Amino acid sequence: MAVYNYDVVVLGSGPAGEGAAMNAAKAGRKVAVVDSRREVGGNCTHLGTIPSKALRHSVRQIMQFNTNPMFRQIGEPRWFSFPDVLKSAERVIAKQVTSRTGYYARNRIDVFFGTGSFADEHTIEVVCANGVVEKLVAKQIVIATGSRPYRPVDVDFHHPRIYDSDTILSLTHTPRRIIIYGAGVIGSEYASIFSGLGVLVDLIDNRDQLLSFLDAEISDALSYHLRNNNVLIRHNEEYESVEGVENGVVLHLKSGKKIKADAFLWCNGRTGNTDQLGLENIGIKVNSRGQIEVDQNYRTPVSNIYAAGDVIGWPSLASAAADQGRSAAGSIVDNGSWRFVDDVPTGIYTIPEISSIGKTERELTQAKIPYEVGKAFFKGMARAQISHEPVGMLKLLFHRETLEVLGVHCFGYQASEIVHIGQAIMNQKGEANTIKYFVNTTFNYPTMAEAYRVAAFDGLNRLF
Ligand SMILES: Cc1cc2nc3c(=O)[nH]c(=O)nc-3n(C[C@H](O)[C@H](O)[C@H](O)COP(=O)(O)OP(=O)(O)OC[C@H]3O[C@@H](n4cnc5c(N)ncnc54)[C@H](O)[C@@H]3O)c2cc1C
Repeated sequence: MAVYNYDVVVLGSGPAGEGAAMNAAKAGRKVAVVDSRREVGGNCTHLGTIPSKALRHSVRQIMQFNTNPMFRQIGEPRWFSFPDVLKSAERVIAKQVTSRTGYYARNRIDVFFGTGSFADEHTIEVVCANGVVEKLVAKQIVIATGSRPYRPVDVDFHHPRIYDSDTILSLTHTPRRIIIYGAGVIGSEYASIFSGLGVLVDLIDNRDQLLSFLDAEISDALSYHLRNNNVLIRHNEEYESVEGVENGVVLHLKSGKKIKADAFLWCNGRTGNTDQLGLENIGIKVNSRGQIEVDQNYRTPVSNIYAAGDVIGWPSLASAAADQGRSAAGSIVDNGSWRFVDDVPTGIYTIPEISSIGKTERELTQAKIPYEVGKAFFKGMARAQISHEPVGMLKLLFHRETLEVLGVHCFGYQASEIVHIGQAIMNQKGEANTIKYFVNTTFNYPTMAEAYRVAAFDGLNRLF
């Protein structure tokens, strides 16, 4: 067994692992990364963020082609299959792998492809695909092994019509009707993708409101637009059993209802990838979701071992995972790059897209903060009209006395980009965070960013 010595070994090459490895390497540490997949990028690149966003982009292009009257001059509305749109996602994945492989090479980070586990607090054994075992000894180790879909034992995931968010990427046909169980972010995003392809979707939510952490107006807007696109949302439902039959799946609900579809997609919960790590050899415990507890420095109870990304739980986003990984390495190398990641915008790539940061109206009302609201509807904005993107709204919540921006909530075209302008202002200290910025600053025209100006005037006009 070959033995290699490193300053830092990172388990997992998703955004958290990459963030940790790059930061440690840039601080002059000798770094190795281990990933059980034969390519870098993590589940983010291969199964989660990237494929789902690429799928969504293709579906939106199809929707635009099929609904924009201008395109009728070049052809009738066309139907595309799920495997058709999957092909474009595969091209993006390959490009991402190429870019990311280059980052490791450029920063002289060794990459081992194999499953890593702890032999002791400083030693990782890597079982490579060809059966060879390598031993990596490191001063510090970062666990960034991510998560996978939670699979309850009473659902038969071997049935050919029952999928989770990983296996749906191997779907080789386009179902006429699909049941999506779990109306969280991933379930709602896939509901948008399938309904955009003309598939009838039953979206099963075990709560009474979609994505209830959102501002209620935005959540209502999402429900409206999903319904408008043939998604049947069933609230307050829980499964009794999932029965795979010859030509489909029958979902039996505790409420007594039965729903049949050609395919069933389970989107209810995720589990941390910790079961193969040999954590029992180093005394690290995990919670019921397989997640590892860390302190504000991303340090586990074992002082030389850190963890970041989905494997530590909230918020389970690629955006945050990259920063958490960078911060974990920042704690190790002590180069001023550490920060505790607690201020994360929401970006939800449903159709329409949603993004927000800061407080919701509900939270501000409960806290008795005197706030006012300013809104801009995309249907009235030049850039949205030019882009044929009339659906959407930007809502600013601000303190009616100090004018401090307290919340930014947006849905529609470019929402996940638009939110960052508000975020930049909200992050200013003291009086620099004021809604006046948006009326005292010249914005490019026409832009979607102009929504800030419109919303700010709307809000300021309400003050007396
Ligand atoms: C369908 C879907 C859509 C999503 N969309 C978004 C989005 O739009 N925006 C967003 O911010 N987030 C999104 N997410 C979440 C995002 O993908 C995750 O938060 C992110 O991938 C977490 O990154 P990570 O680095 O913690 O781990 P991962 O990306 O999960 O990578 C972990 C890596 O570790 C490897 N590994 C596991 N065990 C071992 C081991 N023992 N040894 C070696 N390697 C191991 C895995 O094979 C994997 O390659 C989405 C997730 C899903 C499922």
